[in-house]
Amino acid sequence: MLSSRMENLHPYVPGEQPKDRDYIKLNANENPYAPSPRVIEAVVEAAKNQGQKMALYPDPDSNELKSAIAKMLNQTGGVLCKAKIEGGDENGSGAKVSPAESDKIPFEVTPNMIYCGNGSDEVLSFVFYAFFDKLVVLPEQTYSFYPVYAGFYNVPMDRVPLKADWTLDTEKMLADANKNDAPIIFANPNAPTGIGLTREEVRQMILQAPKDKVFVVDEAYVDFGGESCIPLLKEFKNLIIVRTFSKSLCGAGMRLGYIVANPDLVNAVTTVKNSLNHFPIDFLNQKAGIAAASDAGYYAVCAKKVAFERESFIQFLNERGWSVVGDKTNFVFCKKDGLSGLEAYKAIKKEGILVRRFDTPGIEEYLRITIGTKEQMDTLKSVMSQF
Ligand SMILES: *Cc1c(COP(=O)(O)O)cnc(C)c1O
Repeated sequence: MLSSRMENLHPYVPGEQPKDRDYIKLNANENPYAPSPRVIEAVVEAAKNQGQKMALYPDPDSNELKSAIAKMLNQTGGVLCKAKIEGGDENGSGAKVSPAESDKIPFEVTPNMIYCGNGSDEVLSFVFYAFFDKLVVLPEQTYSFYPVYAGFYNVPMDRVPLKADWTLDTEKMLADANKNDAPIIFANPNAPTGIGLTREEVRQMILQAPKDKVFVVDEAYVDFGGESCIPLLKEFKNLIIVRTFSKSLCGAGMRLGYIVANPDLVNAVTTVKNSLNHFPIDFLNQKAGIAAASDAGYYAVCAKKVAFERESFIQFLNERGWSVVGDKTNFVFCKKDGLSGLEAYKAIKKEGILVRRFDTPGIEEYLRITIGTKEQMDTLKSVMSQF
């Protein structure tokens, strides 16, 4: 009964979502904060007063949403936790936002540089379809959905191991990409390590990478303290930046993701969309996304809170002999010598907190712990101080 294509499928296994108990969920890198109250208002308002629109197809290209995203990027420089905020309410909602000096984008991001889809996972799948063919170069340890799509689209992978210090082996990645004239993809900051390359390091890589292939940087976590590569779009026509509402825009349940790239590349991805799923974002979700992207102040405050808790948690771990890999994301990747990762995971779960652990050889002893609210982190710290 099954098509031969089914043999190439290796489905992604998400962080567990158990129903048996109300766990504190620190296992899927979701944001612990609710979306901006303005998002809730926009959805309620639209359902109440424009309900008839739900009987009609939505804008297939989400044009208003693209404009709102472009505006948000210009305001924040693409790094929420470092953005400057003035005014707004006690949660930052309605604040005036401007980029940190080092994040200023040296041009205006325009809506035709944005493609918006149903979660960045869908966007990534279209990027794979549009641009990856004979081979793609990626790190061995990175977002685990890339190998899933490579299987789905039958794209052979060259998975380059990380260096001993968990950083990308950029030299080997570049040598392989040039030898095979292949595109490159990685997450920056990377997962599950939490380590990021600087913008200048990425720039040096793109300068040395094949010019006739795309260079894809997945910035799912950059708002929590990395350096965005959006400013590099001025220089590179082959750069694609993938971003999501799921982490820093408190919207994992909303399913919105986007790319920022040269309009020609945006058009190519749009062609894939129009050949597969013409209306990827429903009417209400477009309203939600527009309201979210229009309230950068609220999300900047959330990102600053997450970054603050991360610093405090890293200090806690260091004081207790844990080694922590990176420090740029809304999670930390850590282990303690002499403590089994599986035992630690189980002991934490027993106390009602879920964290993530991978069976992958080489990282079995590590935990990937999402940063939650202060209250959640205090609970976790009290559990972990018994180790
Ligand atoms: C969470 C994550 C995504 C997926 O985001 P969605 O928009 O929820 O599909 C993509 N890339 C990386 C690196 C992620 O961590």
